[in-house]
Amino acid sequence: MNAEHLKSSHFADYLRACQVIYDLKSKTKVEAFEELLDLLKENQLIKNRKPVLTRVIAREQLESTGIGHGIALPHARMDTGQDLAVAVGWSSEGLEFDAIDGQKVHLIILIVWNPVIPGLFNHVFAGIAKFLSNATYRSRLFQAGSGEDLCKTLSQIELEIPEMEDRIIHRAGLLWKLQEIELQKKKASPKEAKEFQAQSDLIRSELDSALVERFDRFMERYGFAVAEVQHGVCMGCYINVATGMGSAIEGSNDIYVCENCGKFLVASKSE
Ligand SMILES: [Zn+2]
Repeated sequence: MNAEHLKSSHFADYLRACQVIYDLKSKTKVEAFEELLDLLKENQLIKNRKPVLTRVIAREQLESTGIGHGIALPHARMDTGQDLAVAVGWSSEGLEFDAIDGQKVHLIILIVWNPVIPGLFNHVFAGIAKFLSNATYRSRLFQAGSGEDLCKTLSQIELEIPEMEDRIIHRAGLLWKLQEIELQKKKASPKEAKEFQAQSDLIRSELDSALVERFDRFMERYGFAVAEVQHGVCMGCYINVATGMGSAIEGSNDIYVCENCGKFLVASKSE
């Protein structure tokens, strides 16, 4: 483990109990963002709420950060003078989040990350994803009786250089979205194109650079980089995908690559 650009690789160093709201008052996700950003402002971890809120919402509109299991990881890319500014909120009622599994979100981990530090986003998300993929840790979080409890459990997260497996969690949807944006950008007026470029940059900033390079190579060569799988067939090359891969892709947001044509694969959007 070597996160040499970070001041610390322990999530605990970025999260104190005062950055946790155990009983969110909010009834909607935007209210929850506001409530959590107010907390960051009070703790002087951000200067102004508004620009951060705008970014968090813009990111949320691209793809819900509700990652399933009642957990959401909204985030904004912004230089706040720190590596990370983290706020955690718990809603016992749960909030509608348009999450990947359709469930309400109870636990929100909001992160403002500094783009000045190379690879920071991947460090943070690989660490959190690895932690949250563990059912024991998840149930400990959901049984927490106080903000201190939540804070203590989350403090066990270590930020790490992502393994390929961690890195591919919940990224396929973003690549698909990126492709849609790039295709729309081509047909857009110069003014609209600017807006699409801003959305494109937002997604690119949080994807692994090797993924983005591969994506761009395919876009340039073939006009598209991400292909749907329909009835076990890659729509990029019309060849059956590897046995088992088709069903693995179904209902998953992990990134798979067609073994025949090399394009990124997503489950069919039209079925
Ligand atoms: Zn293919």
